[in-house]
This record gives sequence, structure tokens and C-alpha cells, in this order.
Amino acid sequence: MTFKAEYIWIDGTEPTAKLRSKTKVMADGAELPIWGFDGSSTNQADGSSSDRVLKPVFTCPDPIRGGDSVLVLCEVLNIDMTPHSSNTRAALVEVAEKYAAQESWFGIEQEYTFFKEGRPLGFPIGGFPAPQGGYYCGVGADEVFGREIVEKHLDYCIEAGLAISGINAEVMPGQWEFQIGPAGPVEVSDHMWIARWLLYRTAEAFNVGATLDAKPVKGDWNGAGAHTNFSTKAMREKYDPIITACEALAANALEHVKHYGSGIEERLTGLHETAPWNEFSYGVSDRGASVRIPWQVEVEKKGYIEDRRPNANVDPYLVTRLIVDTCCSALEKADQV
Ligand code: ADP
Ligand code: MN
Ligand code: MN
Ligand code: MN
Repeated sequence: MTFKAEYIWIDGTEPTAKLRSKTKVMADGAELPIWGFDGSSTNQADGSSSDRVLKPVFTCPDPIRGGDSVLVLCEVLNIDMTPHSSNTRAALVEVAEKYAAQESWFGIEQEYTFFKEGRPLGFPIGGFPAPQGGYYCGVGADEVFGREIVEKHLDYCIEAGLAISGINAEVMPGQWEFQIGPAGPVEVSDHMWIARWLLYRTAEAFNVGATLDAKPVKGDWNGAGAHTNFSTKAMREKYDPIITACEALAANALEHVKHYGSGIEERLTGLHETAPWNEFSYGVSDRGASVRIPWQVEVEKKGYIEDRRPNANVDPYLVTRLIVDTCCSALEKADQV
């Protein structure tokens, strides 16, 4: 029997990369080879030297095709086998290895919005639905829109073996969230990219688009974020390292925000459960802070922190690399490892 391998990669589109994929039919039992593609069609090469290399880095069962079919997440390389400039995973792997002893965990909350016929699912033609209030974690056909897609996506993620930990309806109609983690920085990011691909692919079958746009509707509607929860072994055991991590994020605030996704100033306005993008703050239970320390963490004096700044369209390879680099180097310096 042959099987199908869906090679998936992240392209070079700016400011926000897109996912691409193509299918390779494989002989039974064959190893997944390195493959190639036309980089001039994905903003990753000029037409005159267009070949780019796909290197398989993470494989899981394909829950849509079933059988022996697989999804194959790839890094993009140049033909001399160096990482392509759009390849942000290679740099994360280096930083993750450097600080592996601190055992970093991440849980990323991916918010997104369904669109159909040019408007969010649940928005009436030419107008707006009732203001926000009843939609978050709502139930009923007047409150939630697209649940059949969301349930299918959740099942696919579980069947693929991804570290998905939950879903919920969000504050704006047509807006939803899923969470990946806790898992190490490379694992959480690989699983996130596959979960995103599965989201688009699942919604496609319903003739619905899904977008990670951080402010899909202007005005008094919540944006879409990717809250990034983080801990090291020391943070999971003591409180001082939690504060050290928050202070390290404070000292590097602007450097982080620059890489936290396209349109960050539009979403981090200080309204709609956000802190202004150019002012850093952290606090216990504070959903208006840049970084929240959950209340149980303060009570138990150990646990994790939530960086609420990343946009829904953030590259998980970038946000996890920045957080590991900033926090783990500070924890090392403070002898809190
Ligand atoms: P919120 O209350 O902000 O909506 P969620 O329940 O949506 O929170 O997401 C919290 C995320 O944090 C989950 O993905 C969860 O797996 C993750 N998480 C829990 N404990 C830790 C930890 N110690 N380190 C990192 N992430 C964690
Ligand atoms: Mn959440
Ligand atoms: Mn949310
Ligand atoms: Mn959150």
C-alpha cells in the first residue's frame, strides 16, 4: 500500500507568513526524503534561482486522510543546506538547546476568527451583531457561530497527537480559541503550526476562512491574541524565579513587542483587556497588564506567568525563542535554575 505525505512549510510572505503544503505519494514503508519547491512562488526566492529545500522536522498522523497518511512539517533550507532567511525554527532550536537544562514549558492560547463572504461568521450583512457580552464561552445559536468546525478541528488535533489542551468561544462572534501545551518551546511551536494548518484545512471543507488577523474588526470589538504561558523548572518550584522572569521581560519589553506579530499597536491599545504596547506592566490576576501572574500562582508561590502581548498572528518560533533567551539567561545570572 502507498501512503500520502503532506509536506507543510512556512512561506516568506511579509509581514505575516502563510502556510503552504503539497502532497507526496510514498511507497509502503519508505523514509520521508528531503524535498523541494519553487521558492519564487512563495516569496522565498527569485525566479532565476528558485529552488528551495524542504527538510522534514516533525511528523504526525494525518487525521483527515487517515490510514498511514502523515503530515510532515518542514524547515525551509537553501540549496547549500543552510537555513533560509524565512526559517525562524533553526534559531529557536539553538536557543532551546542552550537552555535545555532549565526545562522550559509553554502553553499558547491561539485566538482566531472565522470569516465567510467578507464578514466574521455571525455578523449580519451590512451591519453589526449585538455588542460583546454574551459570546465568550457562550452556548446557543444566537451566541456561537462555527462550533461544528471547531469540534471537528479539536478531534483532528487529538487524532494527530498534538498537545492540544482545550478550546473556547471568544468575546466577539465568530471568534474562537484553542490552547496548545504545556510543552517545550520547539514542540509547542511545531504543534501550533500543524494545528493552524489543520484549522484552515478543516474550515476549508465548510467553505469558511479562518484568520489570525489581530484586529479583524475595527472599533469596539476584541482583537485576537496568542497569550503565551511560560515556566521553567525553577518557576514551577519557587516564587522568586517568577519575579525574576517578569523583571527580565520588563527590561527587554520593546525588543519583544517588535516581534510579537503584525499590527501590535492596533491590538495593544490599553482597551479590551490589553496593556498599551509601549508600556510594560506585570501583576497578579491583572488582565490589563502586559504579563499576568495567575492568582493560584501567587497563592501557591510557584507556577507560571502569562505574557498577554503576542498577537494571534505571532510566529511561535519567535515568541518562544525570545522568552527563553530573555528569561532563562536572567534566571541563570540570578542563580535561580
Ligand atoms: P486563560 O485563563 O488565560 O484563558 P487558558 O486556560 O486558555 O488560560 O490557557 C492556559 C495555558 O497555560 C494552557 O495551554 C496550559 O496548558 C498552560 N499552562 C498551564 N500550566 C503551565 C506551566 N506551568 N507552564 C506553561 N504553561 C502552562
Ligand atoms: Mn484562554
Ligand atoms: Mn482568549
Ligand atoms: Mn489568557
